[in-house]
Amino acid sequence: MGGLVLGGWASPATAAGGVPAAAGKPARRPLAERLQVCRPAGDPLDELLRRNLSFSEVWQQAQASGDPQERARLLQERWPLGCQVRPEALAEGQQPWAAILCCADSRVAPEWLFASGSGELFEVRCAGNTAFDAGVASLEYAVAALAVPLILVMGHSGCGAVQAAMATAPLTPLLQELVGPIRASLRPGLDLAGAVRANAVAAAAGLGQRSALLRQAEADGRLRIVAAVFDIASGRVQVV
Ligand SMILES: [Zn+2]
Repeated sequence: MGGLVLGGWASPATAAGGVPAAAGKPARRPLAERLQVCRPAGDPLDELLRRNLSFSEVWQQAQASGDPQERARLLQERWPLGCQVRPEALAEGQQPWAAILCCADSRVAPEWLFASGSGELFEVRCAGNTAFDAGVASLEYAVAALAVPLILVMGHSGCGAVQAAMATAPLTPLLQELVGPIRASLRPGLDLAGAVRANAVAAAAGLGQRSALLRQAEADGRLRIVAAVFDIASGRVQVV
């Protein structure tokens, strides 16, 4: 299916072999191998959660300091980023090992929360973490052309889009459209935290409903779609 839909979009990284040795120079490793130096050997979800746990510990320590520079120093010194793909490889292709669908909120940057470098995470961001047409198409590309095995759909505490969906204040036509799927996920009596969870679960379920390609990839066992919530105060991401 991926070949038919995305035949012209094949990732160079999935097709490239090693580069033959030039006279006097050692052969370069295949591009796919060079792009995968940061790829976890085990389960990608476990790796995301492990990195986030490490982030949240530093985040909470930094929170205890009253001085902005001291907070920045703590975060920079203890930053658990341990891997970076070589820029020359990234210039030729990408092999991200997880996709994140999350809110556009300034506090929710995935590279930060998951201590990840360039080329590791494929991201789709939109206020309220709903994937509309372009977002679903982007994730189809990630799965079909880049063979991303995991989509993490991540809501977050204090989400303004979810708050807007729960409120009755007038919205512009486009914002009205944006909160439509969030409103559809809400049940009576939910507080904001419950609404954020319900919206993350609904947004994750919606991907398979809207995309035959993603549905097929899940059915084939090539893709997992998981819902989670990020708590800004603690820095923790938890699967819901
Ligand atoms: Zn948000």
